[in-house]
Amino acid sequence: MHDAAFAAAGIDAHYELLELAPEAVEATVQAARGPDWLGLGVTAPYKRVVADLCDDVDPDAASIGAVNNAVRTAAGRLVGFNSDAPGFQAGVERAMDRPLAGTEVVVAGAGGAAHAVVFACLAAGVRRLTIGNRTPAAAASLAARFAAHGATPVVAVGLDEPAFEAALATADLAVNATTVGMVDPGVAIDVGRLPDRATVFDLVYVPVETALLAAARARGLRAANGSEMLIAQAAIAFERWTGVGGMADVMRAAVAPLLADPAARP
Ligand code: NAP
Repeated sequence: MHDAAFAAAGIDAHYELLELAPEAVEATVQAARGPDWLGLGVTAPYKRVVADLCDDVDPDAASIGAVNNAVRTAAGRLVGFNSDAPGFQAGVERAMDRPLAGTEVVVAGAGGAAHAVVFACLAAGVRRLTIGNRTPAAAASLAARFAAHGATPVVAVGLDEPAFEAALATADLAVNATTVGMVDPGVAIDVGRLPDRATVFDLVYVPVETALLAAARARGLRAANGSEMLIAQAAIAFERWTGVGGMADVMRAAVAPLLADPAARP
């Protein structure tokens, strides 16, 4: 995605994939302060660690508690930011074909991605938010983290509690922010409980069609995987690094065949 965008923008740079052992993260972040670097992207499990290693962290990323990208300033300082939250909002609004504001949302999961999803929902002004997690204490802790963000009622429950199923019955949007469907087979959300107007958004994008999405489509609901969030967050990061916006279409064209065909991936 990024290399396609660099080529389209005529920028002589490339995006390098580094698989790092934990003890190599600090030195890599230090290297990224060098003049050859525009910044860096970060994925699980290092989004919190890198937040601590940046020189500055923008306020939204600090609230979320995770950095998924950092930009190098001309002075060689690294500023961490989070493009997952606005990427989620862009992806899900495209899937719903309406703004997030005013909707009733149910989120399954309370890990790093769920932090960005919950932040985006509250910042957008959803009407009501229910967080369900396999480990209920993590859902409660996520809800408490954002308790001061606006007036939206936030409820935290266990995934298998009746209150989670009850919340699904009135939801406009159900989000899977667990690894279920990617790592584990199965579904974290019972689509049979959702109203006909609901959209199902699965953050998982490999495989492109999870069991959750297949069930949602079979039930006649709008359904989308996390690829639009992936693309939107990447385009936001690219603009922070280069000043060049509007690269989502180039990135989508580059990534779609790779997501559809595992054998084509680098
Ligand atoms: P994480 O921090 O490891 O959190 C994992 C979450 O999944 C936790 O809530 C965990 O619950 C739950 N979980 C794991 N196994 C489960 C099971 N068998 N049953 C029920 N819940 C289970 O992971 P993450 O970084 O938040 O990522 C979550 C997903 O989002 C991944 O699939 C990732 O690829 C995707 N993601 C997509 C994008 C995108 O751009 N589309 C961006 C970021 C992440 P416990 O607390 O009980 O362990």
